[in-house]
Amino acid sequence: MSAKNGTPHSEALDLVVVGGGVAGLVAALCAATEGDVLVLTKGPLLSSNSQLAQGGIAAAVADDDSPELHAEDTIRTGRGLCRRSAVSVLTEEAPARIRDLVELGVEFDEGFGLEGGHSRRRVVHAGGAATGDRVARLLAERVLAHPRIQVAEGERMLSLWFTDERCVGVVTDRRAVAARATLVATGGAAALWQRTTNPPGALGEGMTAAYRAGVGLADLEFVQFHPTTLVDSSLLLSEALRGEGALLLDEHGERFTDELAPRDVVAREIAARGTALLDLRAIDRARFPGLMGSLAEEGYDPAATPIPVAPAAHYSVGGILTDLDGRSELAGLYAAGECAATGVHGANRLASNSLLECLVFGRRAALAALAEPGLPARLPKASVPAAAEPVTAALRRGLWEDCGLIRDAAGLERLQSAPHLLTRLIAESALTREESRGSHFRIDFPAESEAFERHVVLRPGAEPVLETWP
Ligand SMILES: Cc1cc2nc3c(=O)[nH]c(=O)nc-3n(C[C@H](O)[C@H](O)[C@H](O)COP(=O)(O)OP(=O)(O)OC[C@H]3O[C@@H](n4cnc5c(N)ncnc54)[C@H](O)[C@@H]3O)c2cc1C
Repeated sequence: MSAKNGTPHSEALDLVVVGGGVAGLVAALCAATEGDVLVLTKGPLLSSNSQLAQGGIAAAVADDDSPELHAEDTIRTGRGLCRRSAVSVLTEEAPARIRDLVELGVEFDEGFGLEGGHSRRRVVHAGGAATGDRVARLLAERVLAHPRIQVAEGERMLSLWFTDERCVGVVTDRRAVAARATLVATGGAAALWQRTTNPPGALGEGMTAAYRAGVGLADLEFVQFHPTTLVDSSLLLSEALRGEGALLLDEHGERFTDELAPRDVVAREIAARGTALLDLRAIDRARFPGLMGSLAEEGYDPAATPIPVAPAAHYSVGGILTDLDGRSELAGLYAAGECAATGVHGANRLASNSLLECLVFGRRAALAALAEPGLPARLPKASVPAAAEPVTAALRRGLWEDCGLIRDAAGLERLQSAPHLLTRLIAESALTREESRGSHFRIDFPAESEAFERHVVLRPGAEPVLETWP
C-alpha cells in the first residue's frame, strides 16, 4: 500500500496522530470529520501489532449477552484494579463501534468466538483468525483516501514538542510538526522482552516520550504473557483455538489446567513446566486457515501431533495515564490504544478487549482533541531529543529473566541500572508493587494485598505513588 507524501506544514494541523495501528487510524478518521490530520508511522502503515490480532474484538452483540455481563467479566479478570467508569464506557460503546466497522465495510464471520475469562461467546472475528488484518487494512484504505488526512510512513517521532503549559506537536527524525492537539497511539512495549509475540517495533517509544514531557505513566508492571506461543518463534496460537476445544497437555499427554482460565494463570502453569503441548487434533482446524498455514510453514502437522508452546510477552496493560477521553496530564497531549493507561484492564486484560479499547478510546480521544484551543502565535524552539537508547539482545534477555512471568526484588533491582529509561521505569513499578495480582507475579510477595488495590503512577522527578482512580 503506498502512502500520500507527508510534507512539512506551514500552518498548524488540528491533530497529529503518532501511530498507524487501529487506535491511530480510528482517531484520524474521527478527527478528520472536522479537522486536518497528519498520521505518522515509523514503519510501513500496515506493519502494526493491530494487523497481527487474531482472535477478534469483544463486544456484547449476541442475543444472550449484555454490556453489564461483558463489564463483569472484564472486572473479574482485572483483579480489583479496573477503573469501573472506563469499563462501563468500553463495554457500553462496544456494540456501536462494531456497527461502525460494519458500516465501513468490515465483513465479520458468522457466530462468536469464546476466549478465556469470558462467560459468553462474544468475540467477533473476521477471516477466522485474521481480524486485525481485515480491520487495520480497511481503516488504512479509508485513511489514505481521506482528503483531510496526510500520512507519513517511515517517519519516526523522536520526542514531543512542549512548553511548561502544553504540548504543541512532535519532533520527528525529519522535522518539527506543530499541531493543536497531539495523539500518541504508538502501541505497547512487549518487544522489549526476549520472547515476544510482538513485532520488533513495539518498544513503548510513545510512553518514554510522554514521560520525558513530564506526564504520568501508570500500571507499567502489568505485562500480559500469552500462554500459547509456538516454541522458538513469535507465532501466537490464538486463545480462540482453546475456545474451540484445543487442549493443553503435559509431556505425559495429561491435561494440567483449565484451558480457558485467565491468561496469567495458564501462562504460569505452562512456565512451571517449561513448555506444553497444544492439541489441535479434535477441533475444526479449517476455521483457522491462516494459523494452520503458518504452522505448516514452520514444519508442524497439527492433524497428527500436538504443537509445543510456551509463554511470551504479549501486551502492555499500563502506559500513559489518561482520563476517559484520552487526555494525559499535559494539556494538548492525548493517548489511546495499547500505549495508554485508562485503567480499563485493571491488573490483567480480558482477551480481545484491546482492539475494542483502540476503537472506543481512539474515537473518544479524537473527539476531545478537536476541542483544544489554537496554538500560541509564537511557538517555543523544539527541544533536541535525547539520544536514542538502543534495545540490545542483552537488555531483552534481562527483562525476560528479571521481569518475566515470575519476579523478585533482586532481579528487579538489577534492571534499575539498565541503560534504557522505560526498562528502569517498568522495573520501578514492579518493585513498588509488593504483592502478586493479575499479570504481575512476585515470588517474594506471592499473595494479593489490599494495600495495593491501587495504581502505581510514575512521574519524572518524583517517587512512585499509589493512586485510587474514580
Ligand atoms: C500476535 C498478536 C495477536 C493479538 N490478538 C488480539 C486479538 O485477537 N484481539 C485483541 O483485542 N487484541 C489482540 N492483540 C493486541 C492488539 O493487537 C493490540 O493491543 C492493538 O492492536 C494495539 O493497537 P494500537 O493502535 O494501540 O498500536 P499498534 O497496532 O501497535 O500500532 C502502533 C503504531 O505506532 C507506530 N509507532 C510506534 N512508535 C513510533 C514512533 N516513535 N514514531 C512513529 N510511529 C511509531 C507503529 O509503527 C505503529 O504504526 C494481539 C496482539 C498481537 C501481537
